Parts: sequence; C-alpha cells; structure tokens
Amino acid sequence: MNGKATEPEITEPNMRALLGSVGLDVEYLRAEGNTLVHAGADGEDVSVLDHVGGYGSLLLGHNNPEIVAHAKELLDARTPVHIQFSRHSSANRLALALNRILHRELGTTEDYLAFFASTGAEAVETGIKHAELDRRMRVGALIAEIDSHIEEVRAASRDGGVTVGAELGFAGPEELIAHVRAHNEAVLAKPPLFLALEGSFHGKLAGSVQLTHNPVVRGPFQALAAQARFVPIDQPDALAKVVDSEQAALLDLKVDGGVVTVEPREYPVFTAFLVEPVQGEGGINVLGEEFATRLRRTADALDVPVIVDEIQCGMGRTGTFLAGSAVGLQGDYYTLAKSLGGGIAKISLLLIRRSKYRPDFEFLHSSTFAKDGFSTAIALKVVELLEADDGAAYRRATELGIRLKSALDGVRADFPEVVKAVRGKGLMLGLEFGDQTGSPSEPVRDAALQGILGYAIAGYLLREHRIRIFPTASAPNTLRFEPSLQLTGEEIARTAAALRAVSVILRDQPDRIFQP
Ligand code: PMP
Repeated sequence: MNGKATEPEITEPNMRALLGSVGLDVEYLRAEGNTLVHAGADGEDVSVLDHVGGYGSLLLGHNNPEIVAHAKELLDARTPVHIQFSRHSSANRLALALNRILHRELGTTEDYLAFFASTGAEAVETGIKHAELDRRMRVGALIAEIDSHIEEVRAASRDGGVTVGAELGFAGPEELIAHVRAHNEAVLAKPPLFLALEGSFHGKLAGSVQLTHNPVVRGPFQALAAQARFVPIDQPDALAKVVDSEQAALLDLKVDGGVVTVEPREYPVFTAFLVEPVQGEGGINVLGEEFATRLRRTADALDVPVIVDEIQCGMGRTGTFLAGSAVGLQGDYYTLAKSLGGGIAKISLLLIRRSKYRPDFEFLHSSTFAKDGFSTAIALKVVELLEADDGAAYRRATELGIRLKSALDGVRADFPEVVKAVRGKGLMLGLEFGDQTGSPSEPVRDAALQGILGYAIAGYLLREHRIRIFPTASAPNTLRFEPSLQLTGEEIARTAAALRAVSVILRDQPDRIFQP
C-alpha cells in the first residue's frame, strides 16, 4: 500500500508542486552507479542516467559495492557509532591519510588538524567560527599591547616627563588617551567581514549563507550574521581594491624622546577569505592561477586565513584530490564533505594548518553527530579507494572528464546559437545555454525570465531521454554534469545525443520543451 492518494503532502509541498510542474517529482526506488530506477506508468522499471550525482556527493556512484560492503561489515561488527568524548582511531587515521594527500599535493610538510562535522555548511560554519576566534585573539593581543603603551604614557606623564606634540591638537596626554580610546572603541564595534567571490556557494546556514553570493538566498537573512564582500572571480585587481576600501587602523601611543606620538596599527578587519577552486553552484567556474596567486598574496599581507572550500570540487572529482592544488593554491583551512561520505554517510571535515590552529577552539565547538564511528570509517574507506593503484581514480576522473567535455564541446560547436559555453574540469562540467528571454516561444521566454528554464529542460531530458541533469543553483542557464567514476562511453554518447535533441528543440520548436 502506498497511500499516495490519501496522505497529505507536508514535506516542502510547494517545492514538490514546482518539481511536478516540469515533471521532476519522480520517486526513485533503486540506485546503483550512475543509474536510478523509478516505476513507469505500468509499474515497469525505468532506468535513468544520473548526472546530478547527489549534487556532487557521488563520485563513487550510488551504492558503491565496496562502500556498501564496508558499511555492512561495520554494522555487523557492532562498531560503536555514537561514542562522544572517547578516542576515535578511525577519525584520526582519516585525518592522517588526508594529511599524506595534502602534503603530496601541496608540497608541504605542515600538518592540518581536523575538526569533524556532518554537512558541508557545518564545516564552513566551523571554519568561520575558528577564524573568528583567531581574529578575536589577535585583536585581544593588539589591544593589550596598546593598553600597556597607554599605561606607559600615563606613568611618564605622572612623572612630568612627557608632552604631546602641538600639531596633534590635544591639551595633554589624558585628552589624547581619551581620543585614542574612543577611536579604538569605534573600530572594535565594527562587525567583522569576510571576502568571498561572486558566484560563490558556501552553504545556507545562518553564517554560511552570508558567504553565498546569490542575493535571492542570502538577502532575507543578511541581518543574522557577519557579511562578506564579493569580488569577481576573473578580476584579480578588484581584490586589492575591495580590501583597500575596507582597511581600518587602531591607534597606538608611543613615547619618543619625551614626546607622545600616535601610531596607527593595522586592524584585522577580515575574518577569512573563502574560495572554491571550481565553483559548483555558481555555474562551474574554474579559478584561474593568477587569481589564486593574488588571493594568497593578499591574504598573507593581511594575515587573513584562506578557507578553500573543496566540498563539491574536491575528493578527486577534477583529477586531483584537492581541486585547488592544480592552480597551486595553498589554503590555511580546507572544507571537505559530499563525496567524502561515499554516498552513504554524512560527514564533513575542516582541516586547519597547524601554524594557524587555535587549540582553545576544541573546547568551544562540538556537535553530537560529529566524528561518529560510522561516518569516519566510511570516509577512511573512500580515501583508500581514491588512493588505490597509485591514484587510478584521479586519472579516471581526468580521462572521463576529457571525454565528456569533448562530447559537450561537440554539441556546442554544432549549436552555437543555443549553447553559449562549456566549462569545467574532470567530472565537474557545465554547459551553459544562451539567454532565452527573447525566445519566440512565450512559455520558454517566461521560464527564462523566472530563471527556471534549466529545470524545464531537465524535465524534458528526464521525460524523453531518461537522463537526470539539473542546472546549478545560482546560474540557472548552466546544466551541471557530476557523474560518478563509473561513467561509460555509451552514457557519454547518450548524453550528447540528448543535448543535441534539446538544442534542436530550443532552436526550431522551443514550445516542445514543455510538451509531454
Ligand atoms: N560549499 C560548497 C562548495 C557546496 O557546493 C555546498 C553544497 N552545494 C556547500 C558548501 C554546502 O554543503 P551542504 O549542502 O552539505 O550544507
């Protein structure tokens, strides 16, 4: 009995209705590799090729047999799962395995210490909290130093041994001290800032949504937490401009030859810079080497940590474990999630370079579900599978990516009036359709204006070609391809054929996108 007709829909009913309007409210019954199965009109199995890949969480495929077998073993062995406040050797082994990979890819020997969480946004929130603790501790040290200098001025003044330079315009040391304190209090009262990139996506929780560029999802929640300044991904010069425009200084006092002078001290305005080496939800945009270098340099000059968000692009999807290592980007923090759980477990991780690590954070942050015995053991298996045969999985992601991209490029070459661009790396590719807001078809025009044409195209592809592809979250004209490593040549050919069919329709008979 499925009770469908009588059960009221109370789990996101409006989203369900929207999905239904374009034929996407399908219930999948089984999943394996790149294949999902739903029931057809007569109850028969309908197999669907899945390019959504759990929004990037399924590099190893749905129900990967080795992961499933390992999960069964763990459960059969009565592995302790919720064992907070005890030793977790699988978590530690995972962190060590990840460190070996980071050392290899980044050419560093510095360790990265690990904090565990369950979702991507949670790892980002953990990172921004750690970075803010670090900033606050640095500010605290600076203020303590300034306070001690103020006391020195007071002591010298009591001895009658100091004067305040006439050019400063203060009657004496106490008036100057009051001015310095008032200035510093005003600077300290300013909320901290983050720097992120246009097109970024770092999550949708109260803090992380502030770092997600899309104003539609961020806007209503802006009052909840510290804000980010956003910089275009292709304009390294804009980075320096934004940073310069936000600079602030605290005032310090110095006694030099019996005269009190005022010294500006750089104030850490920014808590962290955030960057995705390949933006997923922003439309599959690959970070350039020049931008990566400038970002690193700017962060170093200001002593701001760089949080590299590898949640979607990492874990080997683009041909290296860290997508950022391909552009020589070294992060102070890394966030990992999605495919790290092998499509079975929910796990995310924040890695922090030892030289930037604040031990106090361990006593300030925790979660019931973090570092559980199941997800950490599954993730360790995932890393073992990725690293097996000298990194065969990374090579496979690269090779398959080249083949899929060349198929997508072929579609673009044949339909330049419809397909605007093909972008990405490895098994993280995007195909952008040109703007359809001027289409002769009214429904296509309307859907394009509402930003849902990509979903209508997804509905057509599912209905007519049994292929599941969705647009990226913030670039609705870009379809995202994140299949698993099990992708076959036949599946690539099927994908290209389906996209050609879409292109012909958009060019010649756009209304047909909506016709069942
Ligand atoms: N960062 C990036 C780069 C992401 O792609 C996502 C999810 N799309 C997140 C953070 C948030 O992850 P989650 O949905 O698990 O909270």
